[in-house]
Amino acid sequence: MKLQKIEAYLVKLGQFVIEKQTDKMKIVTIPHPSLRSLAMPVVDFGMDLRNLVKDMQNTLQKTTNPRGVGLAAPQVDQLWQVFLTDIEDRALTESTDPKVFINPHLVKHSKEHTFGPDPDNPRLEGCLSMPGLYGAVPRWQWIEVEFQSLQDERVVDKKERFDGFQARVVQHEIDHLSGRLFTDYSLELGLPVYREEGKELVEITDRLALELY
Ligand SMILES: [Zn+2]
Repeated sequence: MKLQKIEAYLVKLGQFVIEKQTDKMKIVTIPHPSLRSLAMPVVDFGMDLRNLVKDMQNTLQKTTNPRGVGLAAPQVDQLWQVFLTDIEDRALTESTDPKVFINPHLVKHSKEHTFGPDPDNPRLEGCLSMPGLYGAVPRWQWIEVEFQSLQDERVVDKKERFDGFQARVVQHEIDHLSGRLFTDYSLELGLPVYREEGKELVEITDRLALELY
């Protein structure tokens, strides 16, 4: 009888461990204060950081409707200068893990801003922390970023250039590390913000609500 109880307990424990491993981290949404906070530079590249990166990769890869292309640590309530992007073309690359950016600095950028490849039809940005909201945001056409990353078990210094959509995603994520949201540009520049209603995008006319975020 006792043995059965222990076995049952172990089965339960096993289920718990499996559930734990496959759990997504909770992505916080507006108006959570972490989305408006300054993230701290990473100085300790030990197990805590590696676990955070692993959990964030797991979380980003599990996002659906919409599938996320980027995730910054403040979005999972961790105020560190860490973000991921998942924008590689799956058909062109073997790599499936989202790219890791730690302590990023934008060191150079294009002269011009862009709203996307077609000026008459701006590319709308969205955010996992602002579900259902979309807006046109001016971004540098290309950027150069210095950052650190994890390669196998090592910490590596990187300097990379990003163009077009990739540059847009990286700029959106860098903004998250200083508590800036894409709707800030919309409010500052008087650009429209849309809310998804069913399959339609409807322009938000009550812009005061956006300021509260
Ligand atoms: Zn975002």
